[in-house]
Amino acid sequence: KKLVIAIDGPAGAGKSTIAKILSEKLGYVYIDTGAMYRAVSWAVLKSGKDVTEENILAVAKDIEVRLENTDSGLHVFADGNDITNEIRTPEVTKIVSMVAMLAPVREKMVHLQRKMAEKGAVVMDGRDIASHVLPNADLKIFLTASIEERASRRYKEMAAKGFDVELSELQKDIAARDKADSERKVSPLVKVPEAVLVDTTGMTIDEVVEKILDMCR
Ligand code: C5P
Repeated sequence: KKLVIAIDGPAGAGKSTIAKILSEKLGYVYIDTGAMYRAVSWAVLKSGKDVTEENILAVAKDIEVRLENTDSGLHVFADGNDITNEIRTPEVTKIVSMVAMLAPVREKMVHLQRKMAEKGAVVMDGRDIASHVLPNADLKIFLTASIEERASRRYKEMAAKGFDVELSELQKDIAARDKADSERKVSPLVKVPEAVLVDTTGMTIDEVVEKILDMCR
């Protein structure tokens, strides 16, 4: 059977790393919903306008966001432009929770997400996938790790990309984003009761992937 797999969890828990490998192993489509909110955030910054609710909504209304699974990984497009790398900057990360808080932005993205999952055989990661986007998913995973480990993973990732970041700053940013994502009114980050909790603290990527593959069998 072709499954629908939902992976939720806080920032830096390894959702995209795990979801990507999992989708490759299963021959499924990978849908990174965070990338979609990042795409809107990037477009807001690109517009040069102030990051206000009004300006965010105007950008979100007009933007066409598209995800494409390719051999070189998942690519993110905004109005036809490949912005896969641009959406990972600290500037985008700083405003994305504010963008993702707005109901009209979420409605538009959730509509696209559900359409992409229609045919099954998908691994979708985000914050509200099990609770809101795909409540009928066959497998629901809540992926987490200690805040220290999440910050240090993100640190290595950013340093490898050449960003000049500080570990303590990153930990603060992640904690702030988790708080915003968990406490917002619309579709907050939450572990639904039926989701399987996977705490990846001290686990290797392979171990996590194996554990989830076992649940698919
Ligand atoms: O997963 P990632 O760190 O790329 O997500 C960026 C932000 O997008 C999150 O901090 C959250 O504010 C928002 N998001 C969301 N709902 C999702 C996925 C991401 O609100 N399903």
